[in-house]
Amino acid sequence: MNQELGHRLRDGRFPAPSEVQKTGVLIVGGGVSGLSAAWQLARSGRDDFLVLEMESEFGGNSRAGLSPLVAYPWGAHYLPLPGRESVHVRELLSELGVLQGDPAAPKPIYDERYLCATPQERVYRNGLWDEGLLPQRGIDAGERAQQRRFHERMDALKQARGRDGRRLFAIPMALSSRDPEWLALDRISFARWLSDNGFTAPTLRWLADYACRDDYGMACDQVSAWAGLHYFACRNGESANASGDTVLTAPEGNAWLVRGLARKAGGRILTGALVWRIEEGKSAVSVDVLMGEKSVRFIAQQVIWAAPVFVLPRVWPAIPGDLKAAALAGDYAPWLTANLHLSAMPEERYGAPAAWDNVFYDSPGLGYVTATHQLIRRRPGGTVLTYYRALHELAPADGRRLLMETPREAWAEGILAELEQVHPDIRQLTTRLDVFRNGHAMRRPVPGSLFSGQREKLAGFQSARLTLAHADLSGFSLFEEAQYRGILAAGRVLQPQVAR
Ligand SMILES: Cc1cc2nc3c(=O)[nH]c(=O)nc-3n(C[C@H](O)[C@H](O)[C@H](O)COP(=O)(O)OP(=O)(O)OC[C@H]3O[C@@H](n4cnc5c(N)ncnc54)[C@H](O)[C@@H]3O)c2cc1C
Repeated sequence: MNQELGHRLRDGRFPAPSEVQKTGVLIVGGGVSGLSAAWQLARSGRDDFLVLEMESEFGGNSRAGLSPLVAYPWGAHYLPLPGRESVHVRELLSELGVLQGDPAAPKPIYDERYLCATPQERVYRNGLWDEGLLPQRGIDAGERAQQRRFHERMDALKQARGRDGRRLFAIPMALSSRDPEWLALDRISFARWLSDNGFTAPTLRWLADYACRDDYGMACDQVSAWAGLHYFACRNGESANASGDTVLTAPEGNAWLVRGLARKAGGRILTGALVWRIEEGKSAVSVDVLMGEKSVRFIAQQVIWAAPVFVLPRVWPAIPGDLKAAALAGDYAPWLTANLHLSAMPEERYGAPAAWDNVFYDSPGLGYVTATHQLIRRRPGGTVLTYYRALHELAPADGRRLLMETPREAWAEGILAELEQVHPDIRQLTTRLDVFRNGHAMRRPVPGSLFSGQREKLAGFQSARLTLAHADLSGFSLFEEAQYRGILAAGRVLQPQVAR
């Protein structure tokens, strides 16, 4: 969240509304969840809604930047191939022409421009690049056997069902089994589950840690075992023209998906619109919004809150106590991303060729993705590298403090020093380096956060005129989760009597 606007919300000093507007449905938040709610309302024939986004651009964590050379992500950058249960993801991809043919087909064909070109990923370890994500070079037979056993176990978990007949780990997560034996995994850490199951090999532990840092912004000893296993076992998408582990991506990361969602909303997205007060009345909801220097009061029949849930108590003074407690029960992982604009492709170390996702084994940052990787037919001379770092080694509040108090120049120097290890000429080639600090980037799935009642309270909440969307309702942040929550919220608005 924009730091200045965020602090303004906390301080609560806003001009009194000088104008009133009316609308049917007001969607607060123009990220994936809010735009998905808009997409679903529009698909259902509604045109009496507005999306309010406080930033100058919509997209939230899936926004992108644009250079004269290429577009590049600021946050989300890939979507794994959707399985058959990710119905809405497939419908969106079909609408955008990226999934070709029947969206319900077991193995759809995808537009090759969005299938990540090979090599998809590589990892830098002990001075060399290794193909893929799990290092193979210099490990002994015992470690190799353990890696194999881990993959077999995850493949088995992908198929496994609970006593209620549902897949143990589905995506969206709400479709997963509610078998208490498996939900109990939410009470221990993923690191503990790995140890209990004899997964101790260093490269395997690194992979688990990397996965948790990458998707949740936390180390695997901080993550709920249910969430850790969900990462490895939820995805079962297949394709007729790509292997199952291929991801869909574009130079601008997931911003093309956001644009696709927004297209249906037409001109009904207002940016630069910060919601600062909500009051639910008997016949309507009154929503005060800062737009430029003035405030506008919107009178809406229904409100979908698709912004992070921790913001809600700040803007809704009459929020029910148990909802407030649930909203404030979780914390958020702070993240740093940086975009480095390079005048040429950097010098390479040995081992494996440049990939789309270039991961560091033993480094503060996770690595970087290359924006020009998909431009196979017209690779420009330069490129943009998007560097990712979760501040998982600190408590979230300390991470946020470090993020905000460290000057941009110090972050830039640290990033260049880190990247210099793998690309010695990075300093000479970097023509611009932009840093983005995201203090509340994603809700943290710590042990106990998914199935002990608080998250479910958020997911199930609906008052007469207010309902929630946002990936926070899933307890962790992914495109599929944000989209699902938006669509569910739209469904409640469309059929309030059924949902209640
Ligand atoms: C660094 C990073 C990398 C990621 N990579 C991936 C990835 O590769 N793949 C993937 O699937 N997911 C990824 N994610 C997760 C990503 O968060 C989700 O995919 C998705 O974008 C979340 O959408 P959302 O709508 O739930 O939330 P948000 O993106 O948080 O959207 C909420 C919106 O509400 C707005 N808002 C907040 N308060 C107000 C207010 N008071 N008034 C008006 N507007 C308000 C915000 O500005 C924001 O635009 C990544 C996240 C981060 C941080």
